[in-house]
Amino acid sequence: MIDKKTHLLLDKGEALPIMEAFYTIQGEGYHKGTASYFIRTGGCDVGCHWCDVKESWDEKAHPIITVKEIVKKSLDFSDCVIVTGGEPLMWNMGPLTKELKKYNKKIHIETSGSHPLTGDWDWICLSPKKAKLPIDDAYKYADELKIIIYNNHDFVFAEEEAKKVNKKAILYLQPEWGKKEKMMPLMVDFVKKNPKWKLSLQTHKYLDIP
Ligand code: SF4
Repeated sequence: MIDKKTHLLLDKGEALPIMEAFYTIQGEGYHKGTASYFIRTGGCDVGCHWCDVKESWDEKAHPIITVKEIVKKSLDFSDCVIVTGGEPLMWNMGPLTKELKKYNKKIHIETSGSHPLTGDWDWICLSPKKAKLPIDDAYKYADELKIIIYNNHDFVFAEEEAKKVNKKAILYLQPEWGKKEKMMPLMVDFVKKNPKWKLSLQTHKYLDIP
């Protein structure tokens, strides 16, 4: 049961449900290979059936931690901080990014775009999901568009989403981990035929790191 004071802190974004935070190497997308401190918020209402972090979905299952405490823990690590989830934009990200900026962190977010954008970001990875599409604004702010390929229809979905995103966004297709053997040959063909797309792999999983 969340008390009134904690509710207020959550509403203002001064505290957030945090599933985990860890230092590792960003494995995927444009910044792959970059040492990064990950902050994984709890709570997601998107509901992808293939989600590999289903334990993040219930925000009540995760401790609520103040932004000052979250940021303090990040200070011993590299300058790159990646906020992921769950769906981080279920929460007000303004106070977290403001506090991280005080320490000159480069702040990235990975979002489905299904909630309004809050916070001040250096890099926005928009990863639209069929289960709950991004809101219109999300396509304007994406630095990269990452589509997860689980089945053949996801190539059609990828092209539909690419039409909506701003022209500067870098386009990535990434295989869903459990389907990679089946989908990778098709993805290689697709990217060769449609070179505006790049291939992204979850290299952290090959390296067996978080
Ligand atoms: Fe999982 Fe991300 Fe989909 Fe949420 S948006 S269900 S965290 S894959």
